[in-house]
Amino acid sequence: MEDFATITQKRMTGGFRIDDIDDKNIHIDPGPGALVRSYQFGLDPLKLNGILVSHSHTDHYTDAEVLIEALTRGMTRKKGFVVGSLSVIEGHEQWGPSISSYHLSKPYVSVLGVNKSIKWDELKIKGTKTVHGDPTAIGFQIKYGNLTISYTSDTEYFDELPEYHAGADVLIASVIRPHGERIRGHMCANDFLKLIEEVKPKMAIMTHLGMKMIMNDPESEARRISEKSGIRVLAARDGMKINLDEFLSPQQSLDEF
Ligand SMILES: [Zn+2]
Repeated sequence: MEDFATITQKRMTGGFRIDDIDDKNIHIDPGPGALVRSYQFGLDPLKLNGILVSHSHTDHYTDAEVLIEALTRGMTRKKGFVVGSLSVIEGHEQWGPSISSYHLSKPYVSVLGVNKSIKWDELKIKGTKTVHGDPTAIGFQIKYGNLTISYTSDTEYFDELPEYHAGADVLIASVIRPHGERIRGHMCANDFLKLIEEVKPKMAIMTHLGMKMIMNDPESEARRISEKSGIRVLAARDGMKINLDEFLSPQQSLDEF
């Protein structure tokens, strides 16, 4: 448990989806509610092609197994792709494994580490470094053609963080506290500002907002950061869809829930 936003569900914790990228639909960090929220927001889990899980905290992995059942048509097909940190897939010290070996037996599975990359058809997925409770936690940088989407996952700010996300057109970050309120292992809004000023993405999205952020008008924080940086900044809302057409066609959308 990382923050009361998960257990109170003041904000949904189902992660997000990147759809229609290289003809694939990918669910990233399916925490509690991912399956139910998919249906609620009109997304079919049976149409998933892959699941990415960044680390072994409950708010990032608890619905991975049910989504794998969707991915593999109830575990009847050798199908789909699951990518996770070492902790999520194999376990590391007291962390994980977060997905049973039964559920890992049907999809294609890859463990991803920092600065390691995997190729999946035309997609390239690189593991990015984090400083977080789970020592094997990673973020993801996904490249497809000329589009680069980077996701920090949970991490505190550290000097090399911008380098890991360099070149991102769209930068998605977990930002749990407003203003300069730092807590260990996480970014606050001011850290996020520093990150996007370095990376200079075309669009930056704050997600995984903690209770204090939610109570503190995340939209006004997004506006403040946008005005300071000159970069388009969005605070993710439950069920939000963002069209990435302008960065690459054919149609791509990103759904947060
Ligand atoms: Zn975490």
